[in-house]
Amino acid sequence: MAKPDAVVRAEATEYRLPTVVVPSRYDIRLEPDLDAATFAGEETIAVTVHELVTEIVLNAAELVISSAAIEGSDGAAIDAQVALDEPAERARLAFPSPIAPGDWRLRLRFTGALNDRLHGFYRSTYRDSAGAAHTIAATQFESTDARRGFPCWDEPAFKAVFGVTLVVPDGLAAVSNTAIASETAAGPGRRAVAFADSIRMSTYLVAFVVGDLEATDPVMVGKTPVRVWCVPGKRALARVALDIGAFALDFFERFYGLPYPGDKLDMLAIPDFAAGAMENLGAVTFRETALLVDEAAASHTEIERVADVVAHELAHMWFGDLVTMAWWNGIWLNEAFATFMELLAVDAWKPDWNRWTTFGVSRAAAMGVDGLVHTRPIEFEVRAPRDCEAMFDLLTYEKGASVLRMLEQHLGADEFRDGVRLYLDRHRFANAETTDLWKALGDAARQPIPEVMDGWIFHPGYPLVSVEPEGNGLRLSQQRFTYIAEGGPAPGRWRIPVIVRAWVKRGIVQKHLLLDDAGLIVPLPAPADWVVVNAGGHGFYRVRYAPALLKKLVGVLGRLAPIERFNLVSDCFALTQSGAMAAVDYLDFTGRSTDETDRNVWTALLGSFAFVNRVIAPEQRPGLEALVRHRLAAAVERVGWEVQPGESELERQLRADLLRALGTLGNDAATQDRARAVYARHRAGEPMDANLLPAVIAIIGASGGDAEYAEFFERFKSARTPQDEQRYLYALAGFRSPELLKQTLAHTIDGEVRSQDAPFLMRTLLASVYARALAWEFLQEHWQTMARQYPGSAYRRMYEGVTALVSPDWERDVRSFFTSQGITLGGKTLEQYLEQLHVAVLFQQREGAALAAFLGRIKR
Ligand SMILES: [Zn+2]
Repeated sequence: MAKPDAVVRAEATEYRLPTVVVPSRYDIRLEPDLDAATFAGEETIAVTVHELVTEIVLNAAELVISSAAIEGSDGAAIDAQVALDEPAERARLAFPSPIAPGDWRLRLRFTGALNDRLHGFYRSTYRDSAGAAHTIAATQFESTDARRGFPCWDEPAFKAVFGVTLVVPDGLAAVSNTAIASETAAGPGRRAVAFADSIRMSTYLVAFVVGDLEATDPVMVGKTPVRVWCVPGKRALARVALDIGAFALDFFERFYGLPYPGDKLDMLAIPDFAAGAMENLGAVTFRETALLVDEAAASHTEIERVADVVAHELAHMWFGDLVTMAWWNGIWLNEAFATFMELLAVDAWKPDWNRWTTFGVSRAAAMGVDGLVHTRPIEFEVRAPRDCEAMFDLLTYEKGASVLRMLEQHLGADEFRDGVRLYLDRHRFANAETTDLWKALGDAARQPIPEVMDGWIFHPGYPLVSVEPEGNGLRLSQQRFTYIAEGGPAPGRWRIPVIVRAWVKRGIVQKHLLLDDAGLIVPLPAPADWVVVNAGGHGFYRVRYAPALLKKLVGVLGRLAPIERFNLVSDCFALTQSGAMAAVDYLDFTGRSTDETDRNVWTALLGSFAFVNRVIAPEQRPGLEALVRHRLAAAVERVGWEVQPGESELERQLRADLLRALGTLGNDAATQDRARAVYARHRAGEPMDANLLPAVIAIIGASGGDAEYAEFFERFKSARTPQDEQRYLYALAGFRSPELLKQTLAHTIDGEVRSQDAPFLMRTLLASVYARALAWEFLQEHWQTMARQYPGSAYRRMYEGVTALVSPDWERDVRSFFTSQGITLGGKTLEQYLEQLHVAVLFQQREGAALAAFLGRIKR
């Protein structure tokens, strides 16, 4: 047996296991007791000992190991003394005599608790339609929680084959990574379900799910049966997931040029789930909203979410599961690539969704974080595995995917795909590093990749490209974009693939350029009527046009693609937030977009209005509401309330977005009245467009009272679909009466809201200008309860809400709160939230007076 390369290289450290003993196979038998919330297990691990040892060290956490012994080929067993090191999450097995190099079998018996923290081997509960409570046992092992399910070498480079047996009560389903090989009786009322051997894979991809679950009929994709599992009664909500799942599996087999590496594909909806979904090979787990959806009653956004997440997880079956990062610093590539492939697959599935255009919104969100001084490079050194938790953020997923998209456009789609195929083929069933992908892409495209990519991957931030007229042509230069200038503009350090499109002498001129530190002169045959830089919109950079060029461009917005208009709005607002453009000039500029038809451009515009809303004083709010009504009037007039024949899904979703903004941010009384009337008809059973309902619920929340609150709460508790549940839940944060908001706040910790959702509800409350003061008080009082109840990752993300507490006093309070309570959020997360808040406070101080004057003049 050969040791994996990465294991050979890795030195044992306080964070890395020694590599003198390496596992190759686990036979695991687990018996969960759902009522007692415990489990008992035994395992045999085939290991190769490379040097004489008297001790074997592996990972275990919150487990009790009752016995451990090692057995050689002669069958004689040597018992070990077990010492658990809980802080290090390790078990040390000490042997009375040295273990010689060679192949051995390690036998362990252990017990553990099915925890309620949504990691490791944990329990999830739900009530059936009759109100009876049921428990499901499920796993979430990434990044380092397989050690809570069974003692193991819990590092991604220790790949092994897994043979799993689950002993479960008759009548309960048991699912693991592979197909069921056999089922045998295991005492009265119980059976042992043995699963086929897995491929060689990492511990974080192992999964066990046991509970009262039902599956759809399989959809066959080649030889692979694809099924969706859910709690009883929800199978009808699996259609979208099965459709995109089957499409994506086939799409990826073709794209990657390799068959699906599993023997079946189950996708399971778990009622309590901390992340969005988890790519366990062959047994992908999801939160319900990311897998189950009623096509007929869901909005475009809700359906797109299911498609995105399913495609993302299936992309991982190859990229992540078959070929795995050697260590956690490679998480970014795993996630960035899956995000990139998710978009490619969904775009191929539904071209009319314009998925790459919508991705502009996600890219801009990543730029929001990456424009901070406290950003980080995409890839950084991860010593303690826990440090990689900070990698599950916008910079990994969205910036990472953006940069890969930029590279794909630069190399050509075919060359990019060939490089990916080469990479997977070279490293399948093994581990790889980022440089291995660059090598394969470089080999396929016959050009050096690191030269172009290193700046994007190993440096924090991104460039601002300035565009000035120069003779007949243009002069381009770069510097780092930041919202807060720290000692003058940072130098540029990127090789930027730039596409320029210009209208010159009544014709289009398009140029592909590589902009480096030195800047670039772009000659044109004659002065351009207009010019757009970052043409096509894929570049991960912002553009600042000289005033004369910007003036020409806003005169021809119709000549730009939607993604280019989106980027223009997004860049102008970012420049406004950084102080390079005056806020009133920006608000004037938004007056040029009143006939905008693209949903994403509206998302950018509405996002900027919402930011201004958080910054201004309450007495200026009517002025902003009037501005919003003015900016939206023509678009709303055009789309109306009724679905028109032949409309696309995106047009329907746009209508909902516009009306929602008009009824909430615009506080438009007529829209609020109409929403109530529409909702009353909906309750009476009249059909309505599924896109509109979530908007109507949000509008009523913003203008509703006690009766509406009681109704929404009841609807939240009795929701038939995960989407319905979410709409009514989040509407509870949108009410404006302090008494009602206090009720919603109480529900964040009283058990009425699942711990997977409560932190996000709290974040929404903090972000509401009507709820934030109350929410902030509540948070300071109850954060310890929240820290105890919420899953760790979601608990940390809740604090993003503090970025909306825009005033110097609040900012001071927020800073002293985190300091005095000693709260850290891992990585640079807290510093980023604090800087975002500071950017908003600076904006308020810089622009407050001008905004007050400007908004005061707006006709109400
Ligand atoms: Zn992922």
